[in-house]
Amino acid sequence: MTLARDVEAVAGRAAQGAAAQLERPVADRAAQGAERRGQSAAPRGRFVPMLLSDYQSRSRVTAVYPDHGDNLLYPTLGLCGEAGEVAEKVKKMIRDDGGILTDERRAALSKELGDVLWYVAQVATEADLDLAAIAEANLQKLLSRRERDVLQGSGDDR
Ligand SMILES: [Mg+2]
Repeated sequence: MTLARDVEAVAGRAAQGAAAQLERPVADRAAQGAERRGQSAAPRGRFVPMLLSDYQSRSRVTAVYPDHGDNLLYPTLGLCGEAGEVAEKVKKMIRDDGGILTDERRAALSKELGDVLWYVAQVATEADLDLAAIAEANLQKLLSRRERDVLQGSGDDR
């Protein structure tokens, strides 16, 4: 009985938060998003533009796992784990904060996305793939789909 009440309370808070978000004018939300861009969990003024290929090679210094250099499985499993941690942060946003992304949770999400990026880089390295080339090919694929108006739908090679 208590559990059911807890679930109802959480669902209610999430619904209220989502409703509050929807009630805010779209322009207001867009302005807030634009204001936030450029901010992240790290202190201001300490950013250096970084190429993905540089990130991929520099991150290898921290690639400490069994048989690194010949172990595709380990970083692949790590990537799945970190993606789960991203989902967990968003789940807790719904459960604990009524669906509102707080600055604290945004900072935590930023760190988890960094962990995802790290594992993506290691998977790419273990598979002898270039991270920058992956990013460029992905962007070209999506831009092509947009131009052909097939962004929606299914099929990897559309
Ligand atoms: Mg993590």
